[in-house]
Amino acid sequence: STQGNVGKISLDQIDSLSTKSFPPCMRQLHKALRENHHLRHGGRMQYGLFLKGIGLTLEQALQFWKQEFIRGKMDPDKVILKNLSINNLVGMLACFLLSGCPFRHSDPELLKQKLQSYKISPGGISQMLDLVKGTHYQVACQKYFEMTHNVDDCGFSLNHPNQFFIESQKILS
Ligand code: SF4
Repeated sequence: STQGNVGKISLDQIDSLSTKSFPPCMRQLHKALRENHHLRHGGRMQYGLFLKGIGLTLEQALQFWKQEFIRGKMDPDKVILKNLSINNLVGMLACFLLSGCPFRHSDPELLKQKLQSYKISPGGISQMLDLVKGTHYQVACQKYFEMTHNVDDCGFSLNHPNQFFIESQKILS
């Protein structure tokens, strides 16, 4: 359960957590939000759910989104309402089906560039690209976990972005 995490994360940790413990889908949503102060509806829903799952309190979540809305001149009320009415169905889908999965939805060349910018080794990148070619998106993501956490075998079968975060924190915290 992620329940035990509630309130243990401070807002100023999120930037650093996003590079260390977020799966690529959430890492890129966070980066896009910080850069553009805007996310499209699907991205806001997915990222909002993820942040809730890593243990942000409701108050922190509101503060987090408000900061960005003010910077991005988005209409806070509308977006916050949408975030709070997130459909639990999202949690039941294989995560790569979500529109934000870079393993499933990025063009291979773009994916390669993204992984290079994350400082993944060329060998690791080609393994991930092969897995993606075989449509093994979650296994590619597990490989990303192994490369970024310096472990040979991640030891779990990934099915949710929050699971990635929890497993990462077991190693890093
Ligand atoms: Fe995110 Fe799942 Fe894709 Fe990994 S496989 S990047 S956790 S959607």
